[in-house]
Amino acid sequence: MWDRRRYAASVLISALSLTALSTRAETPSQPPTRSVADVNAPPVIRPELARNIAPGITVIPDPHINAIPNIGIIEGRRAVLVVDTGLGPENGQAVYELAKKIAGHRKMYLTSTHIHPEHYYGAQAFEGHATIIMNKAQAEELAEKGQAYLELFRKSSPQYANLLQNVHLVTASETYTGRRILDLGGRQVVLEEMPAHTRGDQIIIVTDSKTMFLGDLVEQGFFPIMPDADSSGQKWIEVLKRIEALSPKIVVPGHGDIGDISLVRTIQTYLEQVQSEVRQGIEAGKSQDTLSAQIRSEMEKIHPDWQNAQFIAFSIANFYSELTGKAIRLPSF
Ligand SMILES: [Zn+2]
Repeated sequence: MWDRRRYAASVLISALSLTALSTRAETPSQPPTRSVADVNAPPVIRPELARNIAPGITVIPDPHINAIPNIGIIEGRRAVLVVDTGLGPENGQAVYELAKKIAGHRKMYLTSTHIHPEHYYGAQAFEGHATIIMNKAQAEELAEKGQAYLELFRKSSPQYANLLQNVHLVTASETYTGRRILDLGGRQVVLEEMPAHTRGDQIIIVTDSKTMFLGDLVEQGFFPIMPDADSSGQKWIEVLKRIEALSPKIVVPGHGDIGDISLVRTIQTYLEQVQSEVRQGIEAGKSQDTLSAQIRSEMEKIHPDWQNAQFIAFSIANFYSELTGKAIRLPSF
């Protein structure tokens, strides 16, 4: 089993447990060749891989190592905005140092696409140096689930536990509801709430180049994850339609290679297919278990190169619950 699966499994196990808590230019559409040789490496971010994906937008990319997200540094004349931190304080410090090098004397902001540990649990490196902004729902979700996610990630892997030593969860300096426009000086960035993968997902839109950081609403190369009852398949489809209507030119997924609007369309098509199959199955009187086996098999044939096939059943469970109005029954691992 490719280790991304094991990573995803660990995230899922974590999330399931939480249900009780309720400067090199690169063409974005030509991603580097995926390598699976080092996915088992500790999820230590690699600032040396940082590259410009558009003027004034630097990404420290996911080098195809589990639990490393794509991290953004967006520059304006007066301020820079950092998007996501990596897993734990050491990663956060490395991101901060690169951001500080880029920012110089400009003001610094930090925001997170959502609360999952590899996206936000390095935030303490920014304390006292950056204004931390997130949406209110995300802040509340962090307050509610943050500590439990920390413990569960620590349990899921010695490497994660090592990186998550001495973590403390950082409260946002500012919260917003719906939408927040951030003026970085000659450049506007929109932070927009779009819950679907979690309760507090937000997307980050750099309006001039239409570059969008989408967090785990869009991942490249593996099946979308609906880990618990806080995910919503129907909302996810609606959110992706909203994102497509914004005509993104450069799409930065939560994990995987940077691309364009096709990444968004691909995930939307997948979700709509699963939803449609579940609806037809319900109308034909089929059980969730029958549908799980049948639809998983179909989706694996459609996407033979995607990882995390075990998550197809979770999407089916989610849609089954939404379409029948019954309480969600997540599959066991
Ligand atoms: Zn996530």
